[in-house]
Order: sequence, then C-alpha cells, then structure tokens
Amino acid sequence: MNFDSKCVHAGQAPDPTTGAIIPPIYQTATYVLPAVGKDRGFDYTRSSNPTRQALEENLAALENGRYGVCYASGMAAVDAVMKLLKSGDHVVCSDDVYGGVARYFNQVLTAYGLEFTYVDSTEAHHVANAIRPQTRLIWLETPSNPLIKITDIAAVAKVGKDAGIPVGVDSTFATPMFLRPLELGADLVMHSTTKYLSGHNQLIGGAVVVNQPALYERLKFIQKTIGAVNSPFDAWLTLLGLKTLHLRMLRHHQSGLRIAQFLEAHSKVARVHYPGLASHPQHAIAKREMSGYGGMLSCELTGGIPAGKRLMNSVQLCQLAESLGSVETMITHPATMTHADVPTKERNARGVTDGLVRLSVGVEDADDIEQDLAQALEKC
Ligand SMILES: *Cc1c(COP(=O)(O)O)cnc(C)c1O
Repeated sequence: MNFDSKCVHAGQAPDPTTGAIIPPIYQTATYVLPAVGKDRGFDYTRSSNPTRQALEENLAALENGRYGVCYASGMAAVDAVMKLLKSGDHVVCSDDVYGGVARYFNQVLTAYGLEFTYVDSTEAHHVANAIRPQTRLIWLETPSNPLIKITDIAAVAKVGKDAGIPVGVDSTFATPMFLRPLELGADLVMHSTTKYLSGHNQLIGGAVVVNQPALYERLKFIQKTIGAVNSPFDAWLTLLGLKTLHLRMLRHHQSGLRIAQFLEAHSKVARVHYPGLASHPQHAIAKREMSGYGGMLSCELTGGIPAGKRLMNSVQLCQLAESLGSVETMITHPATMTHADVPTKERNARGVTDGLVRLSVGVEDADDIEQDLAQALEKC
C-alpha cells in the first residue's frame, strides 16, 4: 500500500462483528478470559487495547517500521525512551530541542544520574565528538524547535552505528509524510501525536516506532508497567485525524513555503528559518532527506521584542497559542512562551532571541493568512 492509502486504512479493517467501517472505541478496562491461562490477545487496557493497537499499527505502517507504541503524551513517549537508560548513562542531544524535552532532561533526569551534552547536530561530527564511553543514546530533533534546524539523519545514524549507540529522532515537525527516520538508519522515531498526526488540536498523545524486536519488547514492557497510555477515545480521535494526514500535510507544506517567501521579502522581517528556502543553511540536507518542508517556520523581526509583541497582539486569523501542527494557524513567541524556562543568556546564545516568532501555518486560505500577517506587520 502506498502512503496515502496507509493513512486511510492501515491497522483498520472493518469490524468483524458489525462491519463498522470505523474501528470501535473499546472503552473498557479489562477483558473476560475464556479460561484460566487463556486470553484473546487482550487482558487489561494498561497493557493493550484494540483501539490503541489499531493506532499503533497505523503509525508503524506510516513510518515504514515494524512496531508502534503509543503513550499519553509526546513527553510520555520521550520518558519511555529515557527509561531504556540507567543511572550513569550519557546522552548526546540536539541543542535546539523542544522546550519541554530540555526541561525534562535538565530538571528531572539529571537528578537520576543521567548526563546530557547538547550539540549542534546539523554537523554530524559535533555529535561524534561528544560521544563518551558512557554514551548510550543520541537524541535528535529535526526539524528542530524553534529554529527549524535540519540534521542529516543518515550521517548521524552512521556515527551511532560505528559507536554502537542507538539514535532516536523526534520527528514531530516533519511527520512520516515528509521524513522517515527509520529508513535513514535511525533506531527509534518519536512523535507528539498532539500535533500534525491528530491534527485538529483535539488531544494530547505520543508515539514511538521501532524496527528491532528487543527494543519494541522493552518499550512495550515500560508502557504496560508505567501505564502512561492514551485513552481508547484519544486513540480513536487520532486515527480519524490520520485519515487526512496526507491531504493536510500537502497544504501545510504549500502554504508554509508561500508564507516563508512572503515573510522573507518583507521589510520588517530580518530573517526567516524555513528549510524550503534556499537561504536556509541546511536547505541541501532538507532537500535530500525530506519530501516536503511542512508548515513550521520561525522568523526574526527587525524591531526585536516590541515588534514581536505587537505582531502577536495584532493578528486576527492567526491564533496566539502554545502549540503547532493543527489546521488552525498558530503564532508563538518562544522567548516568553515555550522557552520561558530557559535562562535569557542561554536562550540568546542558542539563537532563540527576543524577536523570534514561530508560526505553525494552518490549512486556511493562504491569501487570508498572508493578509493577516501583512496587516499585523504594518503595526510593527
Ligand atoms: C509538543 C512536542 C513535544 C511534546 O509533546 P506533548 O504531546 O506536548 O507532550 C515533543 N517534541 C516536539 C517537537 C513537540 O512539538
């Protein structure tokens, strides 16, 4: 089956008892066993649930992977991956990661004896140079948040392979429509299904997809032992969203490129970060490893923080909100919103300046999005 057909059908056959075309929401905690020591593949919903299983199979198929494991949030999915490690282990991590991921690593996991080194992973040799004898995981985020930096996954996967260290990729911004990290040699791919995969700002969820049976068994064990699972209803809503993933992503990509070009040409905008622009420092890598550039971009206004504030308070169609990847266009100010926890000096050093604005371009009419930004930029 090709990708678009997988979005609609993978993991979901008509219900055998009724023919229902949409899989039922198996809203149940437990399952009656036919006899002692026998089950029908399900015993307790923390361990497995038919609706969640359909979602796990769908996501595995979309990533061209073998196994999917779903969680209550993207952060719970990251947590499950980190539970593969133990005290004393070291992780090499992309420096421009989602704010919540850095907060979890630095403010929770360091207290459990894990160590982290942040590197600019856009150059694979930075990753290689940070490897220590205790390094047990390389964690990438590409495209990254909020600077939309692109990592050459195949190059870093080779570094990992040579050193015997697994490579995980947070692929939330790209989705399997545009980037499939497992095909490029990564060992794990992770998503916040809250974003493009469910696509309508209707839930919080996460997933990991892997190929290796031993890795899958361990993640499944962690999932059932800890229980940070998504509800059957949320799994069902995610499956509904996924049915149009290919259609939505195409529009996010088309409008994303158009808005990026509009902003790049605007006098009030100093710089635009979008992998589809020739001016993007990793445009060549993006062109090679991705089949589309998606709807995420960030830009720096010439007027710094006051201009950023005026822009965000002046938009009408674009929604001032701390999320991304939905049908609505959303605008964020990383310095005061997603990255407020990062000390100012460190933020600036990493390029997350006060004038940086992040945009998640939705699927409204692109003329309307452009006009809204144009009228708001007039005031900056
Ligand atoms: C949102 C997000 C997360 C965290 O996911 P939640 O579903 O909010 O827990 C992790 N990584 C990236 C890139 C994200 O955008």
